[in-house]
Amino acid sequence: MFEDLRGKRVLITGSTAGMGLAAARLFAQHGAKVGLNGRRVTPESLAAVDELNKLGGEAAFFQADLTKSDECERLIDAYTSHFGGLDVLINNAGGLGGRKGLESIDDALFDHVMNLNARSALMVTKYAIPHLRQSAKESGQTASVISTGSIAGREGGGIGAGMYAASKAWLHDIHRNWVKEFTKDGIRFNIVSPGTIDTAFHDDKSDDLKGNIANSIPMGRFGTIEEVAPTFAFFASHACSGYITGQILDVNGGQIAP
Ligand code: NAP
Repeated sequence: MFEDLRGKRVLITGSTAGMGLAAARLFAQHGAKVGLNGRRVTPESLAAVDELNKLGGEAAFFQADLTKSDECERLIDAYTSHFGGLDVLINNAGGLGGRKGLESIDDALFDHVMNLNARSALMVTKYAIPHLRQSAKESGQTASVISTGSIAGREGGGIGAGMYAASKAWLHDIHRNWVKEFTKDGIRFNIVSPGTIDTAFHDDKSDDLKGNIANSIPMGRFGTIEEVAPTFAFFASHACSGYITGQILDVNGGQIAP
């Protein structure tokens, strides 16, 4: 189904764990050239590169803290120097960044959450655009930008997660703007919007709270990272989604009817 991913140059930000790593494994299984990214070089990130190479991909790790614009630029330079270009960008790095009610939000939290979820995706995409444009021109197929949004960006988020939810809504919306600016260049923009997925993202919650959340989901459980990964592959594949852009695909076990 994803045959056209073979040889595709795919950069996945925030991919040393969780959904990013699961997506990287799927792309590697289909023979893609996969760039992994995280803030630190660790034994785990290097082991992940080995794993992806064994799965049939060609993988490399690129350290960069994407809350900083100059590191976003450095990441794109490093990836494109290594693989000779870029066909698919997945903006997945992100996170809650702290839980505070409105009356406790200060400039530091505001800046951190926006840098982590909004600035990172914007700056990485900005520096990726010339390479994606080139990819579409040379291949005759669309290039693809996929960003990880969130159910929180659609329904406001839990109490204390308002900044996070708003930063994801910001991401959902700016994609619509990029569709207007870059469709003529053969670049598609889509959002994967997970609900509640079993990753380190939920490590701050008690087992009781996790149980209550699971019970509130029509499917009665958290999603797995493997259940999200194919949606990234779908949007990356020109054969699967070449006429789809500007969309948000919810992966949430029925948690919300958008
Ligand atoms: P995760 O398991 O915590 O993984 C987060 C990844 O992002 C890690 O690889 C981490 O690597 C990297 N990362 C964090 N900060 C970074 C930075 N400043 N620069 C570069 N990389 C950074 O998270 P996840 O749950 O899979 O989340 C992935 C995405 O899905 C996030 O955007 C999150 O907001 C979104 N999301 C998650 C859920 C959920 O229920 N899990 C729901 C909706 C949306 P290092 O630690 O090595 O830097």
